[in-house]
Amino acid sequence: MLKTLEAQLLKQATPPALKDEFAQYDFERMRGFCLLIYIASISVWLLFNLIVSFLGKQGFTLYSMAFLSVLAIHAILLAFIKQARHFQWLNLLFVLIIGAGIRLVIEGLPMDLRPGWLVLGASSMLYGASVLPLRRWSFFATVVLTWAVLDPFIMTQTSVLELKGVMLLLYALFLTALTLYSFIKLRQAKLHTYIMSKRLLDQAYLDTLTEIPNRRSFMTRAGERLAVQPRERDHYLAMIDIDNFKKVNDQYGHDIGDEVLKRVAVDIRTVMADYDYARLGGEEFAIYLYGVRRDDVAQLAARLCHTVREAVTRYPVTISIGLSRVEDGDSLNQALAKADRALYQSKHTGKDRVTFHP
Ligand code: GH3
Ligand code: MG
Ligand code: MG
Repeated sequence: MLKTLEAQLLKQATPPALKDEFAQYDFERMRGFCLLIYIASISVWLLFNLIVSFLGKQGFTLYSMAFLSVLAIHAILLAFIKQARHFQWLNLLFVLIIGAGIRLVIEGLPMDLRPGWLVLGASSMLYGASVLPLRRWSFFATVVLTWAVLDPFIMTQTSVLELKGVMLLLYALFLTALTLYSFIKLRQAKLHTYIMSKRLLDQAYLDTLTEIPNRRSFMTRAGERLAVQPRERDHYLAMIDIDNFKKVNDQYGHDIGDEVLKRVAVDIRTVMADYDYARLGGEEFAIYLYGVRRDDVAQLAARLCHTVREAVTRYPVTISIGLSRVEDGDSLNQALAKADRALYQSKHTGKDRVTFHP
């Protein structure tokens, strides 16, 4: 099944909105990791800076202090950034500054060592960037910026035409291709996993016939709502059952029965849009209403009965509703049982009505 889903997925283009959603999700999940990469990069840069400054007997300059402060500010800013799109720009700025910082350190080395170390610096930066939650354009920009700042042929008296130059150029090309390829493949794999999980979740939590949430979804969501303490306002549970539904099936057939189920689901979604609703199974539905007053609950339930009853259709039906107030200490099953007893009352006092559990 996983392979079938995957094959379907590979055939379709991913909508831009879904890509944006994934980028945000990926950034939120990886923010701690980004911070780690930033701090590690700053630390390694500082270590090499200290080595070159003291073993190279140049002293730790004011420039180095300035770079260190700006880089530290970047790491702090990252902790406050909430949007993935802001991170793309922050990262480009970080690449530019740490790239310049690396060049500054390498300027402290003898001339013949500089080209090799520039390529090593660029390699480390590109590898680091390839595992960050970057958009494709942002990673491409990172690659361009990295080589622009750490170009091993600038200020190194090395020419592309000599042996050392050819070797460096080929290695730089190989490295760029490798990081680009692994970045694209990694990102694609993560995006596909995200889309697959979303699809599987939809299938697990949506009712296939009516396309509204199913029992599993209801139990999870209502369970979460119920657990919130203290409650600002009352919570209520509604159990809904279609009246004489067996007759609809017997008279018009199962397919029409299905159509009726879908229509009632649409009515529930329309009237109860602000609350958690679901098809529990068969022709039974449930609604968890939170932050409402008793009068509003009664009004909403009456409106739902009215909407279903008055629908312009060849196959009219009515529904019965049972309501219960969720008391402190009630479990979800206890609250559902109370609403079910109220529903039973509605059925036994003539159907097409709303009853409150006493
Ligand atoms: P009451 O007013 O007392 O609720 O009467 P009822 O006929 O609705 O009672 P009952 O609960 O016995 O009947 C429910 C029927 O719903 C039985 C079953 O065949 C039908 N049903 C359950 N699930 C589906 C479904 O997915 N599609 C269709 N078409 N019918 C379904
Ligand atoms: Mg029933
Ligand atoms: Mg019924």
